Amino acid sequence: MQALRPAAAVAPARRWRLGVAGWPVAHSRSPAMHRAALQALGLHAWGYDLLPLPPDVAADALRALPRGGFAGANVTIPHKHLALEVADVATPAARAIGAANTLTVLEDGTIEADNTDAPGLIDCLGGDVAGRTALVLGAGGSARACAWALRAAGAARVAVWNRTPERAHELARDLGVEAVDAAFAADVLVHCTSVGLHDADATFARLPLTADGLGAYGTVVDLVYRPGGTPLLHAAQAAGVRTVDGLAILVAQGARSLERWTGRPVPRAVMESAARDGG
Ligand code: NAP
Repeated sequence: MQALRPAAAVAPARRWRLGVAGWPVAHSRSPAMHRAALQALGLHAWGYDLLPLPPDVAADALRALPRGGFAGANVTIPHKHLALEVADVATPAARAIGAANTLTVLEDGTIEADNTDAPGLIDCLGGDVAGRTALVLGAGGSARACAWALRAAGAARVAVWNRTPERAHELARDLGVEAVDAAFAADVLVHCTSVGLHDADATFARLPLTADGLGAYGTVVDLVYRPGGTPLLHAAQAAGVRTVDGLAILVAQGARSLERWTGRPVPRAVMESAARDGG
């Protein structure tokens, strides 16, 4: 049987709607990033909006996307698990991770769930992951996507540390990676906790790292983004380590989503500059 195509890729001239669903979602840079890309692609009739969905209405609202004229939607905290549940079909990545950040309306009006956070991380690492070692900090939704992505991309060792060790062990069991009690030197360090988002000063007190020890990593990725940068990335840069910030990850996952909806390559540099101009 032939795979179904995204509805909007089949009929790009229609006035398609897109958006990012979350609660809260007002802070999101996705609308600026996607609108800039749609203009650059000449898709002037398409729109991309914030979709603030309180938990009690989120399931019905996501199921109604096809009826509402949506080509698809990004989904963020706290609805990524729900997005997988409401979809009619799911990609192997979304199923394995247990969460979806991208819903696509297919040509028959059904909804497909995908997880572009995972390939987005690999894109930011330049695809250079096979045979490498990786330490993931955190055991929440984004840590699951990153650990799965690193393992699927052929990393030789993927280990997870978390403040609550039981959650690291559960993630490790689910995804076939390792749980560790302490940090170790690795090619790639991916920070996936919420430390540093609001309490920047406490970063090194809350993570199993020291600023001086960051030279033990080849690349440091921080999913957390703050204007002016995070203490983790500042310390990694001071140690001469290659860094990837949270906005680069946001752009990479968003570009993958827009490629799925439109069926076309998208202008990543345009998306990145629109996301960074947001403040
Ligand atoms: P989540 O599912 O809520 O997980 C939060 C994680 O942070 C858990 O591992 C939690 O550990 C840990 N944590 C929270 N407070 C902590 C503390 N004081 N000390 C040590 N660990 C702490 O969140 P998520 O969806 O994985 O997202 C994590 C962060 O990544 C978010 O804050 C967001 O800023 C960022 N993010 C960025 C992007 C992007 O595109 N750049 C995408 C997704 C997420 P416990 O299990 O012990 O509670």
